[in-house]
Order: sequence, then C-alpha cells, then structure tokens
Amino acid sequence: MNKISDYFGSMVFSDAVMKQRLPAPVYDELCQSVRTGKRLSAAAAQTIATAMKDWALEKGATHYTHWFQPMTGVTAEKHDSFLSQKTDGTVLEEFSGRELIHGEPDASSLPSGGLRATFEARGYTAWDPTSYAFIKDGVLCVPTAFCSYGGEALDKKTPLLRSMEALNRQALRVLALFGRDDIREVRATCGAEQEYFLIDKACYYRRKDLIYTGRTLFGVRPPKGQELDDHYFGAIRPRVAAFMRELDEELWKCGVSAKTEHNETAPAQHELAPLFNTVNIAADHNQIMMEFMRRIAEKHDMVCLLHEKPFEGVNGSGKHNNWSLASDTGENLLEPGDTPARNAQFLTFLCAVLQAVNEYQELLRISVASAGNDHRLGGDEAPPAIVSVYLGDELGRVLEAIEAGDVYDHGEKEQFRVGVSVLPRFPKDSTDRNRTSPFAFTGNKFEFRMPGSEASVSEPNTVLNTIVAEELCRFADRLEAAQDVDGELRALIRETVIANRRILFNGNGYDDSWVREARQRGLADLRTTPDALAHYLEDKNVALFEKHRVLTRREMQARHDIVLGEYCKRIRIEAQTMITMCGKDILPAVSRFAASLSDQANKKQRLGLNTVYETDTAGLIADRTNQAYRSASALRDAVAAGDAAATVTERAALMRDEVLVRMRELRTAVDDMEAVTDRAFWPYPSCGEILFSV
Ligand code: ADP
Ligand code: MG
Repeated sequence: MNKISDYFGSMVFSDAVMKQRLPAPVYDELCQSVRTGKRLSAAAAQTIATAMKDWALEKGATHYTHWFQPMTGVTAEKHDSFLSQKTDGTVLEEFSGRELIHGEPDASSLPSGGLRATFEARGYTAWDPTSYAFIKDGVLCVPTAFCSYGGEALDKKTPLLRSMEALNRQALRVLALFGRDDIREVRATCGAEQEYFLIDKACYYRRKDLIYTGRTLFGVRPPKGQELDDHYFGAIRPRVAAFMRELDEELWKCGVSAKTEHNETAPAQHELAPLFNTVNIAADHNQIMMEFMRRIAEKHDMVCLLHEKPFEGVNGSGKHNNWSLASDTGENLLEPGDTPARNAQFLTFLCAVLQAVNEYQELLRISVASAGNDHRLGGDEAPPAIVSVYLGDELGRVLEAIEAGDVYDHGEKEQFRVGVSVLPRFPKDSTDRNRTSPFAFTGNKFEFRMPGSEASVSEPNTVLNTIVAEELCRFADRLEAAQDVDGELRALIRETVIANRRILFNGNGYDDSWVREARQRGLADLRTTPDALAHYLEDKNVALFEKHRVLTRREMQARHDIVLGEYCKRIRIEAQTMITMCGKDILPAVSRFAASLSDQANKKQRLGLNTVYETDTAGLIADRTNQAYRSASALRDAVAAGDAAATVTERAALMRDEVLVRMRELRTAVDDMEAVTDRAFWPYPSCGEILFSV
C-alpha cells in the first residue's frame, strides 16, 4: 500500500485539480462565484463540466449524478450515464454545463411537507460549488441543493448553507468592532464523531425487527453487557480491523479524513471520528461515511447498525457534533487567547454561544428529534433531553469572577476591564471533561452530544449557526451604537453571564436530581419528538429563521410536518413488525414449546416423577401467551386509531401515548417467555448472541 498522502482525495475534483485543469480565467470566475454567490456564465459552466467529465472518465467513471440530501435524512441520487449518440449512430461521452448546474430529478416521492403540489411536483437540484464533486462506485457525484419550483428548500443542505451566510455576516460585524479587518470570512467548523454497531450478517438476516426497523424490538438483556468496561478502547478484533482498514482507504480516496477509530462502550459498538472541516463539507462527508460503513460492512459479512438504540440495556449511538468558528486567517474564534484583547474577543463569542443555547434550547432539542433518538435522550444512559452547557472548572471560575465584577487573576481582585485588564491565560484543554453534558466546552470548541447516530448533522448545525448569528447580531447592534465600546462590552459580557446562568451545569447530567433541578431552573425537558416539535413553530423561532433568511414560515411548517410524519411512520413500522413477528413466529413457537412441556410432564407423571419445572414453565408460558396475544390485538387497534387521526400532530400524540405503550406491554410479555423458552424453539438469535456475534 502507498502512503495515505499518495491517494488521499484521489477521487475528488478538488481545488488543486480544478486549478490544474481549468483555464485560469474560468478558475477565477468559479472562485468568485463561490465567494459572492454570483451566477457562473454558461461558457464557464461548460468548460468546468467538460473538465470534470474528462477527469471522471480517466478515473473510470461511466455515470454522473446530482447528489443531494432530501428530508429523508439519507442521500439521494439518480444515475445518468455520460453516453450520448451522434447522428451517425456512434456514441461518445458528454456532460454539459447545464447538466452540471441544474437537474430535474423526478423526485416527486421524496417528502416535501406539502411544498410541492402535484402539478409542480418536480424538484430541482442546483450545484453547490462549495463542496467538491467526487467519484464513488464509478459515478461522478455532484453535490447539489434540492428545492421546489418556487425555490423553497426541500433538503437539509440549503438551510445549512443559508445559516452559514447568516453567521458569517454577523460574526464579521462583531469582529470589526475589535478592529479585526484582517478577517474577511468566518465559517462554522464541524467534526462529527460517528458511533455505530457491527454485527454478524447471518444474525441480522434472521431478525425481522433489525431488517425492517434497524433495532431489536424484542429480546432479553444478555447476562453480560457493558458493565465490565472491557470493550471500550479494547483491542480491535481482526475482522473489525479489516473492515476499518478498508473503510479508511475508501473514505480517504473520497477526501474524507477519517482519523480516529476505537471500540465504544457497548459490546459490538465502535466509533469513527474525522478531522474537522467546514460544516457543509463535514455534513457531506458524514453522509458518505455512513453510506460506506453500511456497504463495506456487508463485504465483510457484517451489518453496520446506525440506529440510535439497537439494543436495550446497553449504550445507544450518537453523533458528537464538535462545533467551532474559524476565520479565513486560520484563527479559531473559540480558542481562548494569549492576550487580554484576544480574550475579550473570545469571551464575546463564548457569551454569544451561551445566550444562544439558553434562549433557543428548544430548537437545539428539536434539531435532534427523531423516533430513534427518543430512546437515547433521557434514556438510562444517554445525555438527558434537557439542554445545558458545561464549561469546566477553570472557565466556570472566570465567568463567576466576571459576574462578581472581579477579574479572575489567581485570587487577586481587580476591576474587570475588557481588553485592558489582565485576564488569565485560559486553559487550552480542559482535562476534567464531563461526558454526561449535552453541550460541553472542550478547550477550543463545543461538543454537542445530543445528535443521533443515524441523522444528518445538517439540522443541528443549521440551528447552531442561526442562533449564534442572532446573538452576535444583537451584540453588534448594541456595541455599534455605543459611545464607549470598551465599557459597553464589559457591561454586555457581565450582563450576559448573569442572565444565562441557568444554562450552566457542571454536575452529572444522568442524575435524577438534575432533572428536578433543571425544572426549577425553568429549563425545558422535552422527552419525545412530539413534545419537542410542539415548540418549533413558536413566533420566536419563526422570527429568528425569517430574520436571518434561513427558513420561511412555510418551509418551517413543511419541516414540522415531515419530521412528525416520519416519527409516526417509523413507529407504525415498528408496531407492524412486532405484530407480525408475534403472530407468525413467536406465539406459534411458544405454543409448540408449551405442548412439548405438557407431553414431557405427562410422560414423567406416568413414571411418578416430579414435573414442577414443566408445569411451572408451561403455566408461565400460557399466562404470557395470553397477555401477548391481547397486547398484540390492542396494539393493532392503537395503530388503527393513529391511522384515523385527522392531523399529523394528533397522530404523533397517539403514537407516543398509545402505540409505544402497547409496544412496551407486548415486549414485556414476549421477553418473559424468551427467558424460559428452550433455545431450540425460539425463532430468533437472542440479543446476547447478536451483540457477541463478531
Ligand atoms: P475527543 O473529543 O474524542 O477527545 P478531539 O478533541 O481530538 O477528541 O476531537 C474530537 C473531534 O472534534 C474530532 O472529530 C475533531 O476533528 C473535532 N474538532 C477538533 N477541533 C475542532 C474545531 N475547531 N471545530 C470543529 N471540530 C473540531
Ligand atoms: Mg469527543
């Protein structure tokens, strides 16, 4: 194998490749267009398309696709070959500028939340030149945004790009007040750590619940889970190592900088973290990462589970979203500075984040809401559904000192004066990390730990960018109008620290006492997706997104309906899967088992032997069979009631309050039976067998 650097990005039509292959004026026009959003000329588009096609053909590609991220959360693509026929019947490869820039996939079955009436059902894809084209599986993938005939966003990418612009606008205003005219652009950065499970393919195909829903809907907890902590950071087994090696190589070729991999807490659980990148590229790369994980696992006779909670009783999977702000001059704006002036700038951005998270905590919760993630947030061992911020001891003390009007200077008290007084050299990296915090400062970035493993990171980052843009905007409004900017900034920082005190929490987020305390502090505890989504269309949130031109009310209404609709559909599929498994596999199996126990008991009785095992077990099975049979029937009724609901909001409430409750009842009855049923009769591999299958 060659060095990584020899083939890293070899399948990417990168800046370096464009520079090399495009005529200088066309390359300049493209850069200009990326920077300013100005439309490319038709001639330039044609030149770029041809260069892209020639490059792709050299790499063995035969097809191209507009690659986009519809509201389903997975990427969509429709392949067209480069094939074109001349009048004399011979063929050649072609790719036009128009085909590069604009696509009309017949994507009418993708969710639009009512934004597309059938007569205008076509969606349009538009090239996003800020994310490079790449080749995967012999297909040239052109990253695109997806919108309706009327220009409304139908995807996750478009609002993310808009939120980046909003953040850039407001951050530059604040930086100007610090005299930072060296900085011309500010971008949000993201490093998304991806958790996943790997299980044996043979086990997977024997479990209908895994096939249809991605998680086990029945199953006794195995005798051994994660309590010995012997999996976390343990030696990686050869089969998994081979998978990781191939995954890394394929990702590297596509320019995805897979960096750190290790075993996670639960048996069969693993994690892959990339180097961080600009947030829109990080979102694209995370999608590629998930897709490759699934595909490459299959090649190794395994299945990659990306569901947030594939197994009860062991950790679920999240996607830790590391987020920061970077300038075009290479400065991390959340890096505590070495000088008082830089520290003042740092504190200003830190305060903006604190206030944003406090004021818009519901939006952050909403941005990670899904049926799958509900099992994780607020579950036994996940970050709670309550949003709070962890700053660490050192920075916490700095803020306390600011609040008290002192400068934090290793105990000495002095008037706090931004940019003049000596502020401490902040710790570069807080070692006392709090793994239970949903939103933790980790030295020079925030780690948002609530996103689910299966979801796109576009949504949480769209929210983060927008809410921070809003606070920066308010700060800039106030400071720009001030006579004494230094004094005003001092007051602003102090007021902000005091006003947002309730969001700071350094303790154990998994503790029950925190739930009570958070309630007293007035923090939101939105346990389920319908609970969270009920806040989405509040005036405050609509005003926020409209003000920063990230989403319109209409787009938000559509998104609300899509998210709730998907929640209902997922739970409905789970319910139907349980009903089918129960009726076709489980009840027939336990009935046979009970009959065999009775036969045995009869035979033993004839010999005058004790039959307490057979009769007790058959008795328990008879009782739970009855219970399961009735629960399945109640579940069927609950699903029917959900189907009959007039609105998606009502349906979602029924799913939460009726369907999920009946599912739980059915599961309890079935799991009781699994615990006592002869292995030879049970129709599926157990959760223990699956978790320890690789
Ligand atoms: P850990 O949190 O596991 O100790 P690190 O702190 O090294 O590990 O980084 C975790 C993730 O954070 C990585 O994916 C990394 O790329 C990302 N990251 C590091 N710096 C930044 C940054 N400035 N902005 C966004 N993500 C970052
Ligand atoms: Mg981390």
